[in-house]
Amino acid sequence: MISTKLRRKIIIAGPCGAETKEQIEDSVREAKNLQVDFLRVNLWKPRTKPGFEGLQKEGLELMIAAAKAGITPGTEVIMPQHAKLVIKHVLAATKNGKVLIWIGARNQNHFIQREISKIASKNNRVILMVKNQIWHNEKHWEGIVEHIMSGGIKKENLLLCHRGFAPIGENPNGYRNVPDFDMAMRIKEKTGIPMIFDPSHTGGSIEKVFKISQEADNFDFDGYMVEVHPNPKQALSDADQQLTWTQFKLLLKDLYNRRVEKTKSPDKFLSKIIYEKIVN
Ligand code: PEP
Ligand code: MN
Repeated sequence: MISTKLRRKIIIAGPCGAETKEQIEDSVREAKNLQVDFLRVNLWKPRTKPGFEGLQKEGLELMIAAAKAGITPGTEVIMPQHAKLVIKHVLAATKNGKVLIWIGARNQNHFIQREISKIASKNNRVILMVKNQIWHNEKHWEGIVEHIMSGGIKKENLLLCHRGFAPIGENPNGYRNVPDFDMAMRIKEKTGIPMIFDPSHTGGSIEKVFKISQEADNFDFDGYMVEVHPNPKQALSDADQQLTWTQFKLLLKDLYNRRVEKTKSPDKFLSKIIYEKIVN
């Protein structure tokens, strides 16, 4: 499917995990400069094998600092109590600011999903995003969205996110997770909920993040969530796939230029400010 629709993309960017005050201060500056929609200040990190599991509640002050600086922070939450904590503290930091919480690919338990949806639905300033499950199955993906909706969250406050499926067997492009763009588009159509694409966890390396983002641009995604770190080599998790902020600007510029070629009129692809920062 080739989309020619012109619409502003939702841009979520920032480190895989929040690590230090300096790292988040740098990220806040860059994210504000570009006026991305949401900054990842990610506090809880499910891991394939034991390792850095995020700053967890000790990192809340970094989310609060981002919110106070005027950028909307976002984090994965694993348990309902994480959602409660983040919502309470981050929303209290500003008068009208919002907060993004998301449920990750590994956290597919509908008792938890429904509870988090219930908690998120109590405040209109909360945006909830839900990633697809790890395994490749359309019925399960649909079911996840239904479980989430049954918790009461409004569609206007909900985003979905495609991050590929764990490879089993064939994976000719060597992606960390194999995308199924057609399935993502069917879920978007059926549910009527915006679908974000995560090229970082799909691609798995800097080169593949660029490549898979270009492929995704042939489909009607509503935005991108990209891992960006001020110093990726030092990152405590997913060091191979995180872009520098300079690389991230190049990625946006690349996507923008492709859109110019396709539609001849890409003015709504990015917000005016992002457009001015990267194109002029
Ligand atoms: C993440 O976005 O931080 C993450 C862990 O991704 P996923 O849930 O897609 O594995
Ligand atoms: Mn990551």
